[in-house]
Amino acid sequence: MSFPIVEILGVPVAALTMAEAVGQAERWMDERRGALIATANAEMIMNATRDEELFEILRVADLVVPDGAGTVWAAHHLGHEMPERVAGYDLAQQLLKRAPEKDRRVFFFGSAPGVAEKAKQKAEAVYPGIRVVGTRNGYFSEADEQEIIREIRAAKPDLLLAALGVPKQEKWLKKHKDELEVPVSIGVGGTLDVMAGTAKRAPLWVQKAKLEWLFRGLLQPKRAGRLLALPKFVFRVHASKK
Ligand code: UDP
Repeated sequence: MSFPIVEILGVPVAALTMAEAVGQAERWMDERRGALIATANAEMIMNATRDEELFEILRVADLVVPDGAGTVWAAHHLGHEMPERVAGYDLAQQLLKRAPEKDRRVFFFGSAPGVAEKAKQKAEAVYPGIRVVGTRNGYFSEADEQEIIREIRAAKPDLLLAALGVPKQEKWLKKHKDELEVPVSIGVGGTLDVMAGTAKRAPLWVQKAKLEWLFRGLLQPKRAGRLLALPKFVFRVHASKK
């Protein structure tokens, strides 16, 4: 099944619902396809306008979902349908929730030492029967890469959640895609931190008010500079409107 694509500053974002994104990822796991899924918020799309490698990865990714109110706004502003936000964290939870009944194997890769293990414990408590077949923190040197790849291959996951931050996770997944042989890989940013409880998501009412970006910027001062990406994004999208 293919979904309508909306190009936002050249990044092809799929106009689909969360249920459709989950269904697509499930099909790729069934087919053992080797798919790369990216979750594009305004900040990632802005990064892609300056980072050729990231831009090319997003152009060839199997699926780019609209992670963020900014992305959904941009599609609407450009005159296209975009049914809803498909946040990376939520997509990951939906897939984890379905993992036990399908007997899926899941690997958590990324975040500071100890976080992936905590996220695994959390997943085992929230999604009984889930098989998290491996964890690995996201701080490594080039010399460690082959060992990490071996670790992931040996664990034979159906789903790989890579939480190395943007654009590291996208570049790493793309570079090692063939060696990894994982049916579905997703770059999920701070998802493991949120699962482990080391970072918080915005309360639901803030998410519903489409202000999660503001919450994250204010809560993590080191991200405050990143808040500027949003007005820049709004300006660039408007300027790109024909
Ligand atoms: N991270 C990592 N390796 C690195 C840099 C970052 O594993 O070399 C992790 C970091 O610990 C955090 C995640 O990547 O868990 C990035 O989270 P953030 O919310 O900043 O994601 P982004 O907004 O960049 O997608």
